[in-house]
Amino acid sequence: MTIVSKLPDISTNIFTVMSALATEHKAVNLGQGFPDFPMNQDLIGLVEKSMRSGYNQYSPMQGYLPLREVLSKKIHSLYGTSVSPDSQITVTPGGTYGIYTSLTALLRPGDEVIIFEPAYDSYIPNVVVNGATPVLINLQFPEYKIDWEEVKRKITPRTKLIMLNSPHNPTGSILKEEDINQLRSLVAGTGIYILSDEVYEHLIYDNAPHCSMLRYPDLFERSFVCFSFGKIYHCTGWKLGYVVSSPSLMKEFRKLHQFNCFACHTPSQVALSSFLENKEAYLGLGSFMQQKRDYFISLMKDTKFDLLDSKGSYFICATYNRISDEKDSDFAIRITKEFGVATIPVSAFYQAGTDNKVIRFCFAKKEDTLEKAVEKLRKIG
Ligand code: PMP
Ligand code: GLN
Repeated sequence: MTIVSKLPDISTNIFTVMSALATEHKAVNLGQGFPDFPMNQDLIGLVEKSMRSGYNQYSPMQGYLPLREVLSKKIHSLYGTSVSPDSQITVTPGGTYGIYTSLTALLRPGDEVIIFEPAYDSYIPNVVVNGATPVLINLQFPEYKIDWEEVKRKITPRTKLIMLNSPHNPTGSILKEEDINQLRSLVAGTGIYILSDEVYEHLIYDNAPHCSMLRYPDLFERSFVCFSFGKIYHCTGWKLGYVVSSPSLMKEFRKLHQFNCFACHTPSQVALSSFLENKEAYLGLGSFMQQKRDYFISLMKDTKFDLLDSKGSYFICATYNRISDEKDSDFAIRITKEFGVATIPVSAFYQAGTDNKVIRFCFAKKEDTLEKAVEKLRKIG
């Protein structure tokens, strides 16, 4: 028996492909976005403590209440917005799940969804599987800025949602106040919703503010805002995150969540609820990761790659025009095999495979890993 695929054009995602190639060729893996340094040992200790203290049964469907309470306090202190732990926050098995569930709660066949490319790989399939239509807009290369005039032109009576991601994967660009102003005037008085993927929330550099949808009441009332503990606390394998929205949007979100996941890993939630009482747990994350970005930039000066700007996230992109005019996917595969460094070709984040000859490096790595990688990259070209 076979099934008629709901996603006929989708193959194995690029992160899996490049990580497998890295393993096969024993390459340094600066491709898939995950840290190779240990996560916080206190947080590990807290998980162990919660398991030994007996927190091993289902948590509430919405998430462990003290965790939702500490998240609500954190949101208030960072963004000045009051959100109810009871009706506006749900703990999820990762950011990807939060995005998918939000989209599934909202979208109906025929709806149009504005997606900026390059786009994180799950967005388009998530929209398509819900019968909706992605309306694709390229971020302006090489700054990867939003062209708001184009957004205006692409809005139709069917536009249901705009998807945002700041700090942005794969480019490291961030939304600025001027973007927020454009967005505000564009959606005011319309029925357009927003999905804001903020999984790199604290990983923002050079003292730039994070323009979270949680800051702006008029935008937040129409938003699902998605977060990931895994990305922020260097434990991507935990697959734990949360979604914040208005009570009415969250009510619909939870109708799906209770039958798809029901509840997330209890000991990790208990651990995070006490870990997050200490603001240092998140306030220092940006400068910690910025040091890695800056170290990688300084090492890369001796190579023939030209780095683009990265203002946030785990990632920095580079062009390689001084080395080759190969397609980015061919180039990324070749340097994995021949030089032993795996990266991600940015064309993989465009449905049409748009190739600006850019590859993405993940700098969320030990200094030693970055040094080993760059030693190999110096030999190219
Ligand atoms: N959105 C973006 C932009 C990401 O880079 C990631 C990381 N994989 C996610 C969502 C998903 O996060 P998680 O691993 O918590 O599902
Ligand atoms: N977010 C990670 C990246 O962009 C990987 C997530 C995944 O492997 N699906 O590399």
